Amino acid sequence: MPDGEAHRLREAAKSGVLICPVPECPSKRLTTCAYREKRDHFRHVGPRPSHTHRRSYMQLTTHSMLRHWAADQDQVIELGEPEMDGDSFEIEGISLILVAHLDDGSEVALCYVDKRLGADAWEECHDFLRELGLVGAWIFSLTKTYFALPNQADPIADRNNLILDKPIYERMRKRGSWPLLLNLEEKEWANLLVPGGSRAENLGFSPPDLDHVVHVVPNRLADCRLCPYGIETPAINEWILRKSSHNKRS
Ligand SMILES: [Zn+2]
Repeated sequence: MPDGEAHRLREAAKSGVLICPVPECPSKRLTTCAYREKRDHFRHVGPRPSHTHRRSYMQLTTHSMLRHWAADQDQVIELGEPEMDGDSFEIEGISLILVAHLDDGSEVALCYVDKRLGADAWEECHDFLRELGLVGAWIFSLTKTYFALPNQADPIADRNNLILDKPIYERMRKRGSWPLLLNLEEKEWANLLVPGGSRAENLGFSPPDLDHVVHVVPNRLADCRLCPYGIETPAINEWILRKSSHNKRS
């Protein structure tokens, strides 16, 4: 909820007009909490919900946000589930897939990942989608570890917005695919840039004195758009996406 709204929304929550949207929630009644030091938020009246509940809630909210974001774009003519021979399907490791059909005939699969996915498993998914003629746009949920700095006391790390690199990101780079880290609450997603690479240099990041890290560059969803090569952001535009995917098709 927006900060400062806890008092206004409490009545609607307590009277049962606003309830938890998670279908399998064991106790849907909510109340609201207002804080000075923390963000305002909804809280379950009953027992504290499980970790699975939080993930389901984030999937629901992400799905709705991605749908609205994509539907608002003129070049998107249809949004739907992934289909093979007329039947919809799921891919293990991907919690949510939304396929956007663009007006030039291309199809982009927005793939949301909120559990651990290894580099090999990612590559299998990537190839599978390509066999179906879909361009995968990979969106990873944000966890604390994703944005944890290698050493929070290090002022260089702080200035360059660094996170630890991972084998999956490295594999994605090799295959010309650009991961996005989603910050659901802020409606932002971040590109990851290799320190010392041309894009990092163009954006003014100085190479840190640390190994195995990448720069995190957040972009507002409102400033990004779908294109035939994935998700164009202010940091990584369509031209770069196209060049990466063409150079590394093998
Ligand atoms: Zn609930």
